[in-house]
Amino acid sequence: MKQNKSVTYRSTRGSKEKITASMAVLKGIADDGGLYVPDVFPPLSVSAQKLSGLSYKETAYEVMKLFLGDFTKEELTDCIEKAYDEKFDTKSIAPLVKKGGVFFLELFHGQTAAFKDMALSILPHLLTVSAKKNGVANEIVILTATSGDTGKAALAGFSDVEGTKIIAFYPQNGVSPIQERQMITQTGDNVFAVGIHGNFDDAQTGVKQMFNHTELVKKMNDAGYQFSSANSINIGRLLPQVVYYAYTYGQLLHQKECAPGEEFNVVVPTGNFGNILAAYYAKQIGIPIGKLICVSNENKVLFDFFESGTYDRKRELVLTTSPSMDILVSSNLERLLFIMTGNDSEKTAELMKELENGGEYKVTEEMKSKCRDFYGGFSSMEDVKKTIKKYFEQEDYLMDTHTAVAAGVYEQWKDDGKTVIVSTASPYKFTRSVMEALGRDCGEKTDFELIDELSEVSGVRIPKAIEEIRTAPVRFRIGCDKSEMEETVEKILGLTI
Ligand SMILES: *Cc1c(COP(=O)(O)O)cnc(C)c1O
Repeated sequence: MKQNKSVTYRSTRGSKEKITASMAVLKGIADDGGLYVPDVFPPLSVSAQKLSGLSYKETAYEVMKLFLGDFTKEELTDCIEKAYDEKFDTKSIAPLVKKGGVFFLELFHGQTAAFKDMALSILPHLLTVSAKKNGVANEIVILTATSGDTGKAALAGFSDVEGTKIIAFYPQNGVSPIQERQMITQTGDNVFAVGIHGNFDDAQTGVKQMFNHTELVKKMNDAGYQFSSANSINIGRLLPQVVYYAYTYGQLLHQKECAPGEEFNVVVPTGNFGNILAAYYAKQIGIPIGKLICVSNENKVLFDFFESGTYDRKRELVLTTSPSMDILVSSNLERLLFIMTGNDSEKTAELMKELENGGEYKVTEEMKSKCRDFYGGFSSMEDVKKTIKKYFEQEDYLMDTHTAVAAGVYEQWKDDGKTVIVSTASPYKFTRSVMEALGRDCGEKTDFELIDELSEVSGVRIPKAIEEIRTAPVRFRIGCDKSEMEETVEKILGLTI
């Protein structure tokens, strides 16, 4: 007999309709524009003692089965097995490293050396299982617009996953040379990278237009294809992220750093609010997380929000050395907002409308009190440099710029509690900034020269993900004008005669 009835999902806006987990994964976003949220948070059913002995994959099963109620044990286990394998360069998948009295949760040991791999390794499998369960016979075509890192992580995640194709559009002159190389050397018969003559917004607009182009959608359907998206609001990206917080607790127990039930704080470098929201979900299922410290760079919209209760996107975007956090509208915050309104979808829809139309919204004190455990913090680019240098010199720990935003806030914050800093990228992904922080002259040197130098200076192994692209053959030389994106997709899929 089942104890919990299956968790169902509903939209954060308006519609009260409840759908299964697999349907939520398949749809990605609700028809009313809202995000899918679970209607309950079932408690984790393993004891602290047992959790401390579980591997990453076993933990993933225990956590994800709570949320993916309509997946069979076999289906879920199979997804997990395919995702968290030798693609990661450490058996532990998400190691917890103690340095200078604080813990770093390293989420950068996957295929692209950054934290998006944690979810994008499993999403393709969740998606294909979900399609099958819901009687979808079409092949799934993922379209994605990328300004760099997400595109590569998505390409790598979907590479050779049966029943899928993926086409990533990136601005030809808007990504770093390393990022472009990562994309155009990606292996897999079902992956395509296309550089467009235009900027990131053009790429994103083009992709959105294709999703909404009825004629194209019909043509695709006739040929046995349908679109789907892999973006960070899909519940299939959020749920796998809850896992590593449970795993962290298990590791803290295992290493005898925490007693059962003892709280630990998390400091999370935040952009779209997915990673830190996953920590909050982990807390809801019983992981003893104390404070959730949401950190920003100069684009400190979230810091201001947690301080004042006003979310105000009306400001200039600052381009920083932690580009994955250069965001003014954090999509996943809508899921927290829904909780703050007391699960009131009408109120949430209203606030999101205000944001869209007027560029801001304000929450009441009462609403704010519902997320008392959240704190905002921020670090400037100067702080980031100092933090990287300090930890390298004093703790012999090399971190990337995003992690340094978080570590900088931790330095200002420090209390007696146990704290875990979430480390979201390998320092080799942002080598130039890291070398500059260490006071090295970068001058005219190429990225690969700097990578070699950093390796000499630090003794930290260069991740396979970076090493590989140095010599990997280029597979894609597809370029197109921003007005030709649709034709390109048709050509790739063989829709044109
Ligand atoms: C995406 C990303 C972030 C931000 O994570 P969110 O879930 O969007 O808040 C932080 N650091 C790195 C390196 C990232 O790639």
